[in-house]
Amino acid sequence: MKTLLIAINAKYEHESLAVWCLNAACHRHHITTKVQQYSINDSMQRIWASILEETPDVAAFSCYIWNRELIVKLIGDLKKARPECTIIVGGPEVSYDGSEKEFHPIGADFVVKGEGEERLPLILRAIAEQNLNHAKEILEKPVVCIKRDYTSPYTAEYLKRIKDRIAYIESSRGCPYRCSYCLSSESTKLEYYPVEIIKEDIRKLVNARAKVIKFVDRSFNVNEEHSLKIWDFIREFENERITFHFEINPDILTKRQMDSLLAMPAGLVQLEAGIQSVNPKTLEAVSRVMKVEKAVENLKTLMSKGNLHIHVDLIAGLPYEDMDSLRESFNTIYQIGAHHLQLGFLKLLHGTRVRREADSHGYKYRDYPPYEVIENKYISSAEMLEIKDIEEALDRTLNSGRFTSTLKYLENYFAEPFYLYKGFAEFLKSRGRLYQPIAAAKLFEYLRNYALQIDGINKLELDSFIALDYACSIKNTVLPEFLKDSDVKALDVKRLLEKIPDFGWKKEYRKRFMVLEGRFPTKMEGKITAVENRIIVDTANIDPVTKRADIRPYGIFTQD
Ligand code: SF4
Repeated sequence: MKTLLIAINAKYEHESLAVWCLNAACHRHHITTKVQQYSINDSMQRIWASILEETPDVAAFSCYIWNRELIVKLIGDLKKARPECTIIVGGPEVSYDGSEKEFHPIGADFVVKGEGEERLPLILRAIAEQNLNHAKEILEKPVVCIKRDYTSPYTAEYLKRIKDRIAYIESSRGCPYRCSYCLSSESTKLEYYPVEIIKEDIRKLVNARAKVIKFVDRSFNVNEEHSLKIWDFIREFENERITFHFEINPDILTKRQMDSLLAMPAGLVQLEAGIQSVNPKTLEAVSRVMKVEKAVENLKTLMSKGNLHIHVDLIAGLPYEDMDSLRESFNTIYQIGAHHLQLGFLKLLHGTRVRREADSHGYKYRDYPPYEVIENKYISSAEMLEIKDIEEALDRTLNSGRFTSTLKYLENYFAEPFYLYKGFAEFLKSRGRLYQPIAAAKLFEYLRNYALQIDGINKLELDSFIALDYACSIKNTVLPEFLKDSDVKALDVKRLLEKIPDFGWKKEYRKRFMVLEGRFPTKMEGKITAVENRIIVDTANIDPVTKRADIRPYGIFTQD
């Protein structure tokens, strides 16, 4: 019996973990399966042809919000082309009450809700024995949450595919929290897998040259001992050009966990922390347990050393979060100074409490995945659109990592950072450029033109920051065309560098170094003041966390 386990990922660089876990579970039961992976960017025809060419007896699809619509089409087509093929569908997008009523009529024979590792092999065996009634009985039995034996999902075939891509790993399953918008809150168990086996798997992924190893553990730091053992272990990969990603709950980080993170080699670890809202009524309504002040304080401390890449999340559209409350949440979370601030929108996922309670908060949301909020009692659809615009401006600027110095400078001209991004969103929109592709250099020009309209802005200071950000992020040592008329200057590097003792001159330095002369902040008598000075940008020296070129005051080289 030929069984395909089919995953359609959100991006090519992701490799679905679920199908490989199911593959490992089937192999443990001596059942042969074949994993087929695609991405939603593959054409429907390519996916369809590739499945059909395999002539499967059983096709099992792993269904998520990003692939549901595609999978619904594929199931319908496959049932017509190969009626003898048994179709199974599982995953978060079918794990809610009544999903059978949607998936059976389109051609799915079996809908597997919740975890599949225990039941899929039994169902496949029953199908192989042509005992379909038994297969149905397996599904009808209540799911018993038994402790799962960990079997490594990383086969030789997997490891061959993962080079330069994102690998997922799971060292625990379940979450002790009950956030009402999250599917993980619907399961009651939390289990940890043996750390020694997880370490072996990490080593396999590092050796296979994965680019990023992402832990899918829902709240990685809940168990202090478990997290510390893994954080201690990964330090040995400091020189392997790999990044480890963890989702954490920042308010409950212990002193030992903070110390461990602060001692990480630069660039080895990325942290993602969902704060979602700072409104106590909102947090209570969604059962999100979070001491916001402590979370912000811990994240600021973690940012201070510059060794960790930090991503924070905020969700628009939660109960009781009106525009003013959202603005406050944004401004509070913004203070952390994280590298990435994700302004997400509530998704009313099937099977979550927030969806069950949608009427009481007046939710209107999209009927199709990802079921994003359109409006509720607290935020109108027009305001939601405004927030979308701000998200777009935020993504293009702060989250791109390109405008760090300019944004810090511009913040001084706004009562709140929220208005800085709101203003830029309106600026781009008025020029028809919001939601349009904009080349990186052009975006610098747009931000400059926006900033030049701000009352009291100092043109030379603004241009100095724009030029600095441009050189550091684009790694181009020539000033962009739109700064040619500016007073900020890119000086002749040869003339300046050859004078520096022990430095000398090499032809390639022209493409490597840039000496900017403008107005830059300098520490004078304990205060940061903008003065006319020079900064040298070294595009061959890249910060492992921010991926920006290194900068130093020119005086450091010349001992001025
Ligand atoms: S949002 Fe995070 S903390 Fe809350 S239930 Fe889901 S996984 Fe757990």
